[in-house]
Amino acid sequence: MKQLDPSARIFVAGHRGLVGTAIVRRLEAEGFSNLLTAGREELDLRDQAAVDRWFAQQRPEFVFLVAGTVGGIMANSTRPAEFIYDNMMIHATVVQAAHLTGVERLLYLGSSCIYPRHCPQPIREEYLLTGPLEPTNESYAIAKIAGIKLCQAYRRQYGCDFISAMPTNLYGPNDNFDLTSSHVLPALIRKFHDAKELSARTGEPAQVTVWGTGSPCREFLHVDDLADACLFLMRHYQRDEHVNVGTGEDLSIRELAELIRSIVAPQARILFDSDKPDGMPRKLLDVSRLHELGWRHSIDLKQGIRQTYEWFIAQHAPAKVGAAV
Ligand code: GDP
Repeated sequence: MKQLDPSARIFVAGHRGLVGTAIVRRLEAEGFSNLLTAGREELDLRDQAAVDRWFAQQRPEFVFLVAGTVGGIMANSTRPAEFIYDNMMIHATVVQAAHLTGVERLLYLGSSCIYPRHCPQPIREEYLLTGPLEPTNESYAIAKIAGIKLCQAYRRQYGCDFISAMPTNLYGPNDNFDLTSSHVLPALIRKFHDAKELSARTGEPAQVTVWGTGSPCREFLHVDDLADACLFLMRHYQRDEHVNVGTGEDLSIRELAELIRSIVAPQARILFDSDKPDGMPRKLLDVSRLHELGWRHSIDLKQGIRQTYEWFIAQHAPAKVGAAV
């Protein structure tokens, strides 16, 4: 069997996203020289014929399937059709083309939102499909569950070595900081930053509105840790059960807001808008399977937020200052 060595032909599907950029960064740092990528304008991953042609020409040996339409609680609940259609199509076309062209191994990336809304915490892999899903991201979750089942079905019927990893909420450089479509962590970095800038200009006290009640709990993993875990699994994991990827630690949205405030704008006041949805009450992954395999995260949340905020300032400065939503 072909090993994942620096000469391997590796396709990173979704190389411009938060996860894809981190995986490319990591592979390049390790000296991989045969990375294959395809931008949206060059290849529509929802188009089976186009994806088949691309795979037949490029002949990847390993695939990181990290492409998809993603977003936070508002984007997920207001654009469910795009979330289910785009993701189901992308998973199906890439898995099918990888099978047809004999890809050695494919790693499919899901999401912790696949688990039932009320499942026990921390969430073990076997709780999948044991209860109803969280309504705010049901479309996305169904597409992500279909992706796991695709990989398992192709393994069972065709013997394909396709594996699945389910990461918890991710953050880091190249995240989406747009307030209408982002996840909570980048949204709060931006809100505190904008509030600080606005206050400096107007002399008014800085204040930030956090959506929901602040009581839901979330776990956050730096995307560089995720990239490390993906490489680890690509090298060492060959089974059909999906694997949770997280830190095993969570905090409330209120605590997250206070942490981000301490880094970005210590003077700011925090308000809560309980008209906005809370979503899942808690989403903490049980990561014992991954720990038993021998992998643990290494980037501490505070350190990761600091680094992400530095990246944000470098990218967005001079930021357009607007009232925090
Ligand atoms: P989720 O993990 O799928 O629910 O996605 P999000 O990261 O979008 O939201 C996580 C939690 O943070 C939810 O309870 C949101 O209501 C809350 N939250 C608080 N403020 C914000 C914000 O400004 N943007 C987003 N996206 N979520 C926020």
